[in-house]
Amino acid sequence: MGKGCDAILAQVDAFLDGERGALERLRFAGHLALCPPCDTYVRQLQEAHRLLRMAATPSEADQDVARRLGAMGTSANKAPR
Ligand SMILES: [Zn+2]
Repeated sequence: MGKGCDAILAQVDAFLDGERGALERLRFAGHLALCPPCDTYVRQLQEAHRLLRMAATPSEADQDVARRLGAMGTSANKAPR
């Protein structure tokens, strides 16, 4: 890896989370354009972040379904009088 890689890689998480200003993001993107190893590394991290979000979403959906089923069960118990 070339000069500046350590500084870039140390901040990758912050950049992926959008915690940096436009000028720093530009410098970050500029480094990736000139440095294939860092570019590859960041792409892998982005993919990992995406998979983590995908993995988190179904569990929330399951909880929503469980709530609806619970609500249906409650109303069904009240219905027969
Ligand atoms: Zn680099």
